[in-house]
Amino acid sequence: MSVLVLADHDLGVLSPATARIVSAASTLGPVDLLVVADDAAAIAQSAASLSGVDKVLTLKGYLVADSLATQLSTLAVRYHYVVASAGSVGKDVVPRLAATLDLMPVTDVVKILGPTSFERPIYAGNAVQTVTDTQDKHLLTLRASAFRPAAGGNAAPIEALDGSVQAVARLLSSDRTESDTADLATAQIVVGGGIALGSAENFQLVENLAKKLGAAVGATRAAVDAGYAPNDWQVGQTGKIIAPDLYIAIGISGALQHLAGIQGAKKIVAINTDPEAPLVKLADIALIGDLFEIIPQLTAELDRL
Ligand code: FAD
Repeated sequence: MSVLVLADHDLGVLSPATARIVSAASTLGPVDLLVVADDAAAIAQSAASLSGVDKVLTLKGYLVADSLATQLSTLAVRYHYVVASAGSVGKDVVPRLAATLDLMPVTDVVKILGPTSFERPIYAGNAVQTVTDTQDKHLLTLRASAFRPAAGGNAAPIEALDGSVQAVARLLSSDRTESDTADLATAQIVVGGGIALGSAENFQLVENLAKKLGAAVGATRAAVDAGYAPNDWQVGQTGKIIAPDLYIAIGISGALQHLAGIQGAKKIVAINTDPEAPLVKLADIALIGDLFEIIPQLTAELDRL
């Protein structure tokens, strides 16, 4: 059962999500990892080092859905599975590819039960659906955070394909937010802040703690709507889905829509004044008290280490 995985990358660097997708996809069969980039050389080198990769294929192009779907539909004839991360690129290209190939994709997979059986969350993460895909070919998007990353140390061969296509859409430019914190979707530790922080200045308490722990920063929708944190930090039903080893939730009540994004978190620490808050009840460790007292103390303790 051959598997084609689409590599995700940004600024010439292979995304950490790809290592997780490769480790999951390699349970289905030998993996060819496709790098589509204007200059794929450096990305292909890191891709080739991932264990579980049989071969790296490179194609000239952009991670833009309309051309990518055409390129993938040509390649897909050779594979039983075409797999992408359920990130912005995968969510864009896989449905388009599915329409081109007249197949039903299975999206947002969080567990691979067997060659044709997959688990995916539904109802904003409140239930898990088991899907059996009886089609001859399978198109999957996987939630990277649900899988462990593949190790390095491999040296797979790299093959350059000749398959550039004329795209209707072209990438002219991209505006990006600069951040020196870890990637939220794949971080092992996430520190999240809620509306209780009270202002964008106070939200820096969360950011500073995250920096000290090498963690990514998350926020509730209430905090984002109030302008305390940027939109791409939002965790939950309408934000990012995270699955860190440790989630530290500061001044967050634990509304259902927020919980939908943190169900994969292995351990949860909640800091809240309210012992009855849903997230406090769900947490492995709860610190009941004022965040404006607890966080500076915690940060000072970490400084002493
Ligand atoms: P609150 O619910 O107001 O909780 C604040 C908490 O801080 C309370 O528990 C309080 O006890 C505690 N607190 C107050 N002061 C202190 C202090 N000094 N020290 C310590 N603790 C303190 N929300 C998301 O997060 N993500 C989503 O993706 C999302 N999607 C949504 C989609 C829809 C369609 C809808 C309707 C809502 C969505 N929401 C989402 C919003 C969600 O319902 C909640 O309103 C939001 O999560 C609440 O954020 P919060 O926990 O910061 O605020």
